[in-house]
Amino acid sequence: MRFERVPVPEGVGARPRDGRGYPVPAITPWQGDVPQFALTDHGRSADCALERRCSVCGRFMERGPVWRVVGAAESEAIAGALAAGQPYRNLAPTMEGPGHRACMLYAAMVCPYLARPNARRRASAEDPADELTSAAVRGAA
Ligand SMILES: [Zn+2]
Repeated sequence: MRFERVPVPEGVGARPRDGRGYPVPAITPWQGDVPQFALTDHGRSADCALERRCSVCGRFMERGPVWRVVGAAESEAIAGALAAGQPYRNLAPTMEGPGHRACMLYAAMVCPYLARPNARRRASAEDPADELTSAAVRGAA
């Protein structure tokens, strides 16, 4: 599945886009009119956290659970805990900004930098035409 075919959450659809068509997350810094996807703007991140706004769409998050994308090691830990019938809790602080569930799922599927070779999907970070499938291998090979 190409990224253009992934359903876009309402708030993400309102985000500005880069020249390839990728929506620009709320915490992404800009250099002129070019978004710097591989970087995080700490001021924008702090604003989102202080105002309880989603790091992807920038819209307000109601009270309740918030979500974030996790890497391969943590996803394996979560899978191990669930397989053992144990709850998974990670109380370690993280620099990853939280967001709406739909926004985080969308980012995990579409963001080229979450798909870099050392990330979970291990796909190219450069080719927006990468194919995404529900059967894509996740975690350590
Ligand atoms: Zn959102």
